[in-house]
Amino acid sequence: MARKIGSRYTAHQILGRGSAGTVWLGEGPEGPVAIKLLREDLASDQELVGRFVQERTALLGLEHPHVVSVRDLVVDGNDLALVMDLVRGTDLRTRLDRDRRLAPEAAVAIAADIADGLAAAHAMGVVHRDVKPENVLLDMQGPLGPGGSHRALLTDFGVAKLIDTPRRTKATKIIGTPDYLAPEIVEGLPPRASVDIYALATVLYELLAGFTPFGGGHPGAVLRRHVTETVVPLPGIPDELWQLIIQCLAKAPASRLRASELGSRLRELLPMLAGMAPLEVDEPDTESVEEADREERPAGPEPAGERVRRRGAVPLVPGAKPADSNRDTHTSMRVPAPDELAGGAHGTARAPRASGTPRPGSARNRAAARRRRLALGAGAVAVAAAIGVGAWLSTSGDDSSAPPQDTKNSAPQSP
Ligand code: ADP
Ligand code: MG
Repeated sequence: MARKIGSRYTAHQILGRGSAGTVWLGEGPEGPVAIKLLREDLASDQELVGRFVQERTALLGLEHPHVVSVRDLVVDGNDLALVMDLVRGTDLRTRLDRDRRLAPEAAVAIAADIADGLAAAHAMGVVHRDVKPENVLLDMQGPLGPGGSHRALLTDFGVAKLIDTPRRTKATKIIGTPDYLAPEIVEGLPPRASVDIYALATVLYELLAGFTPFGGGHPGAVLRRHVTETVVPLPGIPDELWQLIIQCLAKAPASRLRASELGSRLRELLPMLAGMAPLEVDEPDTESVEEADREERPAGPEPAGERVRRRGAVPLVPGAKPADSNRDTHTSMRVPAPDELAGGAHGTARAPRASGTPRPGSARNRAAARRRRLALGAGAVAVAAAIGVGAWLSTSGDDSSAPPQDTKNSAPQSP
């Protein structure tokens, strides 16, 4: 049944549920829209509502073919809603779940779209902070691009910043998704535009390989790998493309390309990639990766959740289903201390193999690998504990599934 959101919008049906709330297909004065109704506990947070209104200009000012525009903010009684352009299609996570990997041409076309969207945002001083496949929507109604790819649009701009209120997350906590977090964030530096470039390079790697470069296993181990590990080339990847990826995965933020340059360099590669089949890469298993992580470890029971799958983002909430759309958004974590981070081996993470080639280190016996797996570093444990208590945003957004009854005082409010 249709319900009113503020005085100008009507919500018709649920399009999807996310960690911050529920997204509705709606109707506004100018036609169909998507309406994200924020979760009740977020909407009732006065500080957050204040920031919401404050950020209004930045959020509404961003218009670009590769950004899902926020058209309006509705603050209405207890309801807080973002009115967005409606994208008819799916998100990139769903596409990856279906296809596992994309052909390089399509992967690069999507990454170039997102780089262009980021360039527009960065030019306005807006950092996204949560670039990941879940926040990339694919427009399936528009014309197809290179490699049969759909136009990609980045969504949830500014949302990470909005919910990152001082009260919710102390200065020592991290907002973001472990697999895509730039090392400087893990080390406690403020997020600048270059964190989006790092996250985008991670997404591009994932589109090509089927798994993220530093993901897998314990979230604490993921954070540590961002700081201490390097990546090795994916088998069969053209060198020009690999060079772009590693430049943007550089540990030093200043070494990464800017969004506009990344966008144009990626587009230059498209003709060369035309017709190329998806890479054939075997995902390194958790064991071989975690071997590198742990050397000294006391004997003890195997920590739960150590043997999780290594593809995509790791679930952060105990018991969260990996397929759930809320699995990995905006967890707040404590920044590990330098000595905690120093616990890991420095070296090369996750050496992917060409499909069918033997796993390096496969001669090592399982018991030794298991022992090493048990040697969860102190830093990882500390971060894990912080994640356990800090995953406030990862609860389901079901509360907000009923749109508001109260329709007075719709919102556009000036700061
Ligand atoms: P959150 O970021 O709060 O976790 P999402 O933004 O991912 O939530 O939204 C959840 C789902 O709603 C998405 O997977 C997508 O299917 C749908 N959705 C979100 N925004 C739009 C939009 N602008 N147009 C169409 N569908 C959308
Ligand atoms: Mg999202």
